[in-house]
Amino acid sequence: MSSLYLGVDVGGTNLRFGVFDAAQCIASYRTAMNLRERCAQAGEAAAAQQLVLEALAGGYHRLRQQCPQIDGIGVAFPGFVTADGVLRQSPNIPHLEDFALESALTEALQVPVVLENDANAAAFGEFWSLRQERPDATSLIYVGLGTGVGGGWIQGGRPWRGEDGAAMEIGHLTVVPGGRRCGCGNQGCLEQYASAQGLISSYLETTGMNADPKIIAQLAQDENPAALRAFQTLAEHLGQALAHVIKVLDCRQIRVGGGLSAAWDCFGEELRTQLRSNMIPALQDTVEIAAGNGDDEAGVRGAALLAREVLSA
Ligand SMILES: [Zn+2]
Repeated sequence: MSSLYLGVDVGGTNLRFGVFDAAQCIASYRTAMNLRERCAQAGEAAAAQQLVLEALAGGYHRLRQQCPQIDGIGVAFPGFVTADGVLRQSPNIPHLEDFALESALTEALQVPVVLENDANAAAFGEFWSLRQERPDATSLIYVGLGTGVGGGWIQGGRPWRGEDGAAMEIGHLTVVPGGRRCGCGNQGCLEQYASAQGLISSYLETTGMNADPKIIAQLAQDENPAALRAFQTLAEHLGQALAHVIKVLDCRQIRVGGGLSAAWDCFGEELRTQLRSNMIPALQDTVEIAAGNGDDEAGVRGAALLAREVLSA
């Protein structure tokens, strides 16, 4: 019998669970639990940690009714995850500082657990797909364009976490000195120009109107100048930022995922141009940038595949 791994993608307002046989999802479950709010209400660490453990255990037990033999669990969490499976902090979900979630969940469920940052987990999912075509691939950069801009880096076949699990926070690279205010406390961060909110802000600046990213994408398809301009701004800042990241990391593969990647046709070509023109000329043709696998299972699948890779090693 083949090995089954459970992937969990923890968001601030919902949790997704999927049982995977390699990259194939065979059972899934999704719940709209608002962990952000509930942990804020819990008010202190022990109660918030208990809430997270119960939420994760709930999904696990539910899916075990369909798949009794789960060999391991990968948890993708929005926050800084250290090499020893400790959540240093989750900027989105309060009261979880220095939470040894990996060992606490392993102990609670008696199943091995791998904890990973959510963008790193998605990066690993993309890397797994890449490796199916190119078994010798060793590195990949992932950019998630959603509510914010997340980043993950696979190096030597595994996610690179950094000392405090905060590597690849590319959403907070400064791209416009003195520019739009960011939730992190700085100004002009990439996230304010290349996320869904960034796109909305760009469109609003030109037109004075608020519009959903899907509407802006539709308008761009119809050659609406303000919508085209908003995507141009996104592509310029993201392309320049990624060129700088490549200068530091020397990686040849970039995949762009997250909700906004559905509008790839509106910015992909310009992004490629901007990336290329900001790179070291001799290396311009070495980097391949493309939309990721694009479905909203990326985090869950990546977490399950990572658990499989780490735990079966
Ligand atoms: Zn910022």
